[in-house]
Amino acid sequence: MQACMTGSITAILVSALAMTLIVGVRYLAASGFFAWLTGRVRPGLYASLRPQIGREITWSLLSAAIYGVPAGIVAWGWNSQGWTLIYSDITAWPLWYVPVSIFLYLLAQDTWFYWTHRWLHRPRVFRIAHAVHHASRPPTAWAAMSFHPFEALTLAIFVPLLVFLIPIHIVALAIVLTIMTIMGVTNHMGWEIFPRFIVKGVAGRWLITASHHQRHHADYRCNYGLYFRFWDRLCRTDTGLGSFDGESRGSSRSVSASGGR
Ligand SMILES: [Zn+2]
Ligand SMILES: [Zn+2]
Repeated sequence: MQACMTGSITAILVSALAMTLIVGVRYLAASGFFAWLTGRVRPGLYASLRPQIGREITWSLLSAAIYGVPAGIVAWGWNSQGWTLIYSDITAWPLWYVPVSIFLYLLAQDTWFYWTHRWLHRPRVFRIAHAVHHASRPPTAWAAMSFHPFEALTLAIFVPLLVFLIPIHIVALAIVLTIMTIMGVTNHMGWEIFPRFIVKGVAGRWLITASHHQRHHADYRCNYGLYFRFWDRLCRTDTGLGSFDGESRGSSRSVSASGGR
């Protein structure tokens, strides 16, 4: 019994460590790639931001360790205890359910993010935790996971909890995590990667890209969403798209250190 318990604890620790490494390497690869791309597409954009980038990488790697623990525990439980509603047999659910499950995960994540994000902008919580993320002025591709450990924890627990509530195929889950990673990086990159017809078109009215999140970093009290503009529109916190012509730097200086509501 004792040996079994020790074996399980060791396996959980190994799983948490492996997940931390995966999340950390995934962050370095994704942010590194888009930072490299930024250097090609917008040469000199990050030239004066080296000290800030150093802080963004430090906070992000710390977040990777925080993300790795719940992910590692759930991965261990899935693999050895049959926990979670993650399935690997594609016939277990109808094929149409695969895209539906991806959408449900993104919608749930977006809802969680919107409301916790608004809460993180309450002055006291902002000063203690969320100010770390907003210290990136303007953010760079390295700021994707630049969170105070407390904020990182609020984000780290959500998908590991969701896999107990909503069934999802393992590949669909990988797609959700890939979308999460890429959007997290590109939304902070300091320029718009999506073509104008998407950003300014019908899709852009409902989807969040860098132009939308840039405005949050410039003006603070608006545009709290993650993937969709649904909650921002419904709660009248959507103030439209931001710009990348230096307006954000000037604007953010004039905003108080308090996160507002
Ligand atoms: Zn941000
Ligand atoms: Zn914020």
